[in-house]
Amino acid sequence: MPSVIKILPQHIANRIAAGEVVGRPEAVVKELIENSLDAGADHIQLIVKDGGKSLIQVKDNGCGMNPEDAVLCFNRHATSKISTAEDLENIRTMGFRGEALASIAAVSMVELKTKTGNSQTGTLVKNNGGEITENSEISTDNGTSVSVKNLFYNTPARRNFLKSDHTEFRHIYETFIRLAVANHNISFLFINNGKLVFDLKATDLSGRLSQIYGSDFTCNLLEVSNSNELISLNGFISKPSFTRKSRQEQLFFLNSRPIANKSLLYAVHSAYDDLIEKGDYPCYFLFLKLDPYRFDVNVHPSKSEVKFDDEKALFSFVRKTVTRTLEENNLVVNIGSSALSGKFYQNTDSIKKHRELTLYHKSASADNFTESFKKNKHGNVHELFVKDSGAYNPERNTDQETEHTDDHDISQNTSVNEIWQFRKKYIIYHLDSSLMIIDQHAAHERILYEQALERLNSNANLSQQLLMPITVVLNHIDYELVKSLEKEFNALGFDIEVASRNRVIIKGIPSDVRIGNEKLALQDMIDVYKKNDVKLNLDKRDNLAKSYACKHAIKAGDVLSEAEMLNLIDRLFLSRMPYVCPHGRPTIIKISADDLDRMFARKGFS
Ligand code: ADP
Ligand code: MG
Repeated sequence: MPSVIKILPQHIANRIAAGEVVGRPEAVVKELIENSLDAGADHIQLIVKDGGKSLIQVKDNGCGMNPEDAVLCFNRHATSKISTAEDLENIRTMGFRGEALASIAAVSMVELKTKTGNSQTGTLVKNNGGEITENSEISTDNGTSVSVKNLFYNTPARRNFLKSDHTEFRHIYETFIRLAVANHNISFLFINNGKLVFDLKATDLSGRLSQIYGSDFTCNLLEVSNSNELISLNGFISKPSFTRKSRQEQLFFLNSRPIANKSLLYAVHSAYDDLIEKGDYPCYFLFLKLDPYRFDVNVHPSKSEVKFDDEKALFSFVRKTVTRTLEENNLVVNIGSSALSGKFYQNTDSIKKHRELTLYHKSASADNFTESFKKNKHGNVHELFVKDSGAYNPERNTDQETEHTDDHDISQNTSVNEIWQFRKKYIIYHLDSSLMIIDQHAAHERILYEQALERLNSNANLSQQLLMPITVVLNHIDYELVKSLEKEFNALGFDIEVASRNRVIIKGIPSDVRIGNEKLALQDMIDVYKKNDVKLNLDKRDNLAKSYACKHAIKAGDVLSEAEMLNLIDRLFLSRMPYVCPHGRPTIIKISADDLDRMFARKGFS
């Protein structure tokens, strides 16, 4: 049998390798900017068109290349950064594999212009799909400019695999932010489809975070700084009171390189354990410094995953540092013996605890408490079926008069006699011969969702005006999103005006939004909207109504008065689809007396 194995031609090998290095436009941006950083540039310009599909250009004022290197750099394994195997153990540059330019050129049309500081003229090299089509002397600035056009033009399958321009841009945007945060001492200019996204001057880390996220954001951050002989950790973390609904503002860097490592992520989160609600994410921008020989970045070509030689020690160092920062900033108080087990409670948590106690005492002495509960002084049932008697609730209408009248009307409608809140999460009552259990959050979500849809469809524009308009500075993506949804936001009752330079002015809010909570209400809604957008691909209005409902519905943990519970039930049954929340989960569970009899094997004896 003749030999069947062939060595692939270089250009085919490069095209295959390109799949690994350049998955999408974002990867090209990352590789090119990293090259500029490695070249010692202190000013980098990024120009993108159509989500990077038609153009990605990175221009720098770095060391440039001589005419020979300007051609050589397109060869596979062509790198100036390592030459011996030992060098691999001691890498300090972003790149070293020497395959980025070869891979990018294999699947696009590249134009490279470069000039070193000590030469009079520069070089232009054009490379289409791995073939050099032009190599000439030109006059150009010191430094390097690489334009990547028509990415994946010769690999249609990959091109079809790309997402919308908007989505591809978002990936580029996130990568840009990571690089800009890590390299705050370098100035960046970012232009998308001819519009300025960022013009960032060199500054310190906190300055860079302000430039990107706004000063409202940075005043909620705490500085982190700790080191020993082997490790150092610096940067910023958010106060526990300032959290997001997504992980977008969580950046971890290892020796200035953005990394993804589950264990480190968990180390930071575990320090916030008892301080934030489940589903809320702290923001952080943390820089870890380690000797290069203590970890291996070679695990993955994109170099974002790393392996550490002593992950445990690192974990505890990070956790300890973050915990200490939170403690030192007096955000936490230790209570009782739980302090010994390393658990901390935020001030608000101890208020919550206090609330529970008050509730317990008040209910124990309440006159209208049923006999059976009164007798059960020690049982858990007593504690769990606490009948609410008006404990503190910031959203509560404190007017006792109205509460009473409401109470009366509603109880007649639904013929509810006894009603309890169980674990501050469920409402329990009996209706005719059935026991009803309502999930308070899901039920309220259903009500608000339908109400929001109704407003969106009727363009009702009902909002309560604020005395003083509030200006919110958003990041660019959120700003663009609000801009595209301005009409819908207004219909919902947010009287907002989209101003210039990423600013949004809130003049009025829907009546369900608490005064003083406007900024957070808007930001949270945007976060949920984006999440839904990626995950569920919803229609604009439906998504907005869902985000609105989710963010403004009462939560598990909110204490409700009897009147509020009755009101909720009443409104729930007036809705179109009372039995499921907008996400399709049940709102009500019903257990009939017959079911109970059956469960207790009582059938026939009742
Ligand atoms: P690597 O970065 O892993 O070395 P690349 O394919 O990204 O591999 O780049 C190959 C080589 O081309 C680099 O080692 C460097 O010498 C040169 N090079 C690439 N981009 C630039 C730039 N912007 N400025 C100067 N030299 C560059
Ligand atoms: Mg490189």
